[in-house]
Amino acid sequence: MKNNHLKLKNNIFHVENINLELLANKMGTPLYVYSRAAIKDSWNRYAKAILNKNCLICYGMKANSNLAILKEFSELGSGFDIVSGGELERALAIGANPQKIVFSGVGKQEWEIIYALKSGIKCFNIESEAELHKISDIASNLHITAPISIRVNPDVDAKTHPYISTGLKENKFGISIKNALNCYKTASKLPFIDIVGIDCHIGSQLTEIPPFIDALDKLIPLIKELIKNNISIKHLDIGGGLGITYKDEVIPDPKQIIDSVILKLKESNLDHLELILEPGRSLIGNCGILLTKVIYIKHSEDRNFVIVDAAMNDLLRPALYQSYHEVKPVAPRTGNAKEYDVVGPICESADWLAKNRLLNVQENDLLIIESAGAYCTTMSSNYNSRVRPAEVIVDDCKYYIIKNRENLSDILKLETTI
Ligand SMILES: *Cc1c(COP(=O)(O)O)cnc(C)c1O
Repeated sequence: MKNNHLKLKNNIFHVENINLELLANKMGTPLYVYSRAAIKDSWNRYAKAILNKNCLICYGMKANSNLAILKEFSELGSGFDIVSGGELERALAIGANPQKIVFSGVGKQEWEIIYALKSGIKCFNIESEAELHKISDIASNLHITAPISIRVNPDVDAKTHPYISTGLKENKFGISIKNALNCYKTASKLPFIDIVGIDCHIGSQLTEIPPFIDALDKLIPLIKELIKNNISIKHLDIGGGLGITYKDEVIPDPKQIIDSVILKLKESNLDHLELILEPGRSLIGNCGILLTKVIYIKHSEDRNFVIVDAAMNDLLRPALYQSYHEVKPVAPRTGNAKEYDVVGPICESADWLAKNRLLNVQENDLLIIESAGAYCTTMSSNYNSRVRPAEVIVDDCKYYIIKNRENLSDILKLETTI
């Protein structure tokens, strides 16, 4: 939604044609607001890049797994990258095609493996030798063949925040490039295992293409080794990880990455492979905002604080990764701005949403936290017994409630006293 779908009209910000002040009055705050047009725009950037190519996009749904958003992507043609049985449940609930679902994650549990096998997913992305044997045992018991790919850890530096880097050898993800061939050889001997692909995912919020190519440069010799060993694969999955503009990052277009990958595969005579991508953040991150209201303004000796009704339980990224989200007043005021930290009501010093921002705000003003489409609502919690926000999706001049705000009885209902 950055830029195009958030517009100032008569000095009030709108998402498409919905006035955010009126929306906040109706729905309350904090409130997640997504734009359907923005979702279509970001999908179309990928759709254009894969046009007439043997390529499948599997939306990395942990970025935002609201059913309405999944349904939107599914109808646009997307498959899904899931990391749990719960995410499989969500994908199936909106009628996703299991043949477009790949299952990643280092700790797949027995019930999740059974569920995925019975659902007939496209591929298990295997992250350890132990997992390979677990899946093999379960598949043999059920007499269902498990399609698998090995997630290779290529040991490349994605040059992103250490918490969202996954392709270095010290990370817990994938099987090291030097053990991968042996693991494939083991897999090829297991009767209920069908080797269908190879995959990697090197990190998130990547802002440049070279790390993707570095990973590919490590994977291609391995694929050639597999061929020499009569192990044939049908697809190459290069994971997700493309970044978005939070502040001033310049992000390459998906087409640049896809074109360079396909070129590289052609040069290596591997262009018969289906190419899979698992973008999460780059599909949804800039399609949503968090609307929040100023509760108090507080001036202390060396800092000014804007205390808002959204907090780290609603939007964890700043506390977890010191990440930057743009903040804008819904109705900008004229006059002098002051430097503020925007913080929530939670009893933690980590509970901040933005630091050192020039703002001119008063109590009850509404603020927009931008780039809140990905890894925001999905990371929300009930910390401090706060109810999680409602969510709406705007489509031109209409909005649809896609998640109701929790209420206090919701957050107490699974508990009992003894
Ligand atoms: C999180 C994740 C993704 C999506 O990552 P983005 O950075 O949001 O594109 C894709 N694949 C795997 C295996 C993941 O864990």
